[in-house]
Amino acid sequence: MTSQEIRELFLKFFESKGHTIVPSAPMVIKNDPTLMFTNAGMNQFKEFFLGNAKPKYKRVVDTQKCLRVSGKHNDLEEVGRDTYHHTMFEMLGNWSFGDYFKREAISWAWELLTEVYKIPKENLYVTVFEGSPEEGVPFDQEAYDIWKERIAEDHILLGNKKDNFWEMGDQGPCGPCSEIHVDIRSEEEKAKVAGRDLVNNDHPQVIEIWNNVFMEFNRKADGSLEKLPAQNVDTGMGFERLCMVLQGKQSNYDTDVFTPLIHKVEEITKTSYTNGIKVTPEEEQINVAIRVIADHIRAVAFAIADGQLPSNNGAGYVIRRILRRAIRYGFTFLGQKEPFIYKLVETLAKQMGSTFHELEKEFLLIVSVIKEEEASFLRTLEQGLLMLDVMIQNTTDKQLSGSKAFELYDTYGFPKDLTALILSERGMTLDEASFEEHLQKQKERSRAAAQVKAGDWVVLRDDEEEEFVGYDTLEAVVRLVKYRKV
Ligand code: ATP
Ligand code: MG
Ligand code: MG
Ligand code: MG
Repeated sequence: MTSQEIRELFLKFFESKGHTIVPSAPMVIKNDPTLMFTNAGMNQFKEFFLGNAKPKYKRVVDTQKCLRVSGKHNDLEEVGRDTYHHTMFEMLGNWSFGDYFKREAISWAWELLTEVYKIPKENLYVTVFEGSPEEGVPFDQEAYDIWKERIAEDHILLGNKKDNFWEMGDQGPCGPCSEIHVDIRSEEEKAKVAGRDLVNNDHPQVIEIWNNVFMEFNRKADGSLEKLPAQNVDTGMGFERLCMVLQGKQSNYDTDVFTPLIHKVEEITKTSYTNGIKVTPEEEQINVAIRVIADHIRAVAFAIADGQLPSNNGAGYVIRRILRRAIRYGFTFLGQKEPFIYKLVETLAKQMGSTFHELEKEFLLIVSVIKEEEASFLRTLEQGLLMLDVMIQNTTDKQLSGSKAFELYDTYGFPKDLTALILSERGMTLDEASFEEHLQKQKERSRAAAQVKAGDWVVLRDDEEEEFVGYDTLEAVVRLVKYRKV
């Protein structure tokens, strides 16, 4: 089954159960000061759940473009290193606004996975909320019983508040959730450890694919819970993970969602991506870089298509950082000294443009903005190289200090690994411990300044900068000139 067919089947399945297919909301949020990017399917329906607006349909189904790079959900550092977290991904979801509840949601999820998609039942595990008596939230007996009619009891796990209870914030709608996990290990591996012991354990082949949230309570200002008059269902399934399972792959990047992009990166950079779980450290370094680039181009292209250009603050800065992370990986590990990431936009638009027309509509803008950003940041990196040369010449030590390496990182977005590599070519080392200390201090500073947490919604200050990784070229040059005068 192609990814296109898998997406279609999901939408059509719920349409056959009385749902109306609705479009994805933009990934970039312009009218909500508490959230920069859509990070879950439910965001666009928030006002329905809060009771501030009335939905046109009681049952809807969609695929939602999500971005998880800031606030409550920040997966950025995982992306590329693991095989199943992305910056931008599609979240498939079915919704009940005061209509059906647990029985229908669970039985349809089960029917879709096991009868339509034909995932073997013995590979599935589900989690149910264990309850939290001290907070007055009961064990979700109802969900447990419904699951028990369908799945062996040793495939049902109880989960705590962190994994199995969803709240919008300190107040408002909330409720237990039931997650569905899938075990795609070989029979040999399965014989060694039971799948249930690996659920929610960061195992790359025993992963969460679908979360079903049952909003049945309202948390009042005094912290107590009351039953909502109308109950809601909010579900979210990771589309790329589902494709991995259904296409019999071990990594999201081996599915047809990513292979065209990966092939294009290989072709442009004359490197090769190594499939499989067992790869050498050298191959893995290249793999990570290729995964980062194949992932980040999607986030950046969709953001620009939605009207968010890279810039020096707020949401624009987040996008700039993502793109610069991709450029750095290309520069450091794939030897790319010239802009090349913009060339992937064509591949992406060909592949996803028929589902997300904005990619085709804004094609030229996306290409030109990315190309310009690349050119500018590569110049900055070149300046960093020059700066490092000067530092090396000016030191008699065999070790470059952490503060100097941090200055390069902070001012030029110059990655530590690259600094270490260049130093080693000159027979020098880097004071890594001291570099890490500087980095840590800076993270604490920006964290303290950045945000007040409020569940799924994060209050951002106007001047929020999550992590500072570089000035623009002009500033960099000015700095370099100053440095030389000293
Ligand atoms: P995980 O525990 O794997 O980080 P999650 O519990 O944070 O996932 P949810 O918030 O429950 O995820 O989102 C619903 C679904 O979206 C998940 O079951 C998963 O399939 C998918 N998903 C979540 N985060 C990502 C991501 N960064 N990239 C791709 N898919 C994701
Ligand atoms: Mg997560
Ligand atoms: Mg989870
Ligand atoms: Mg989850």
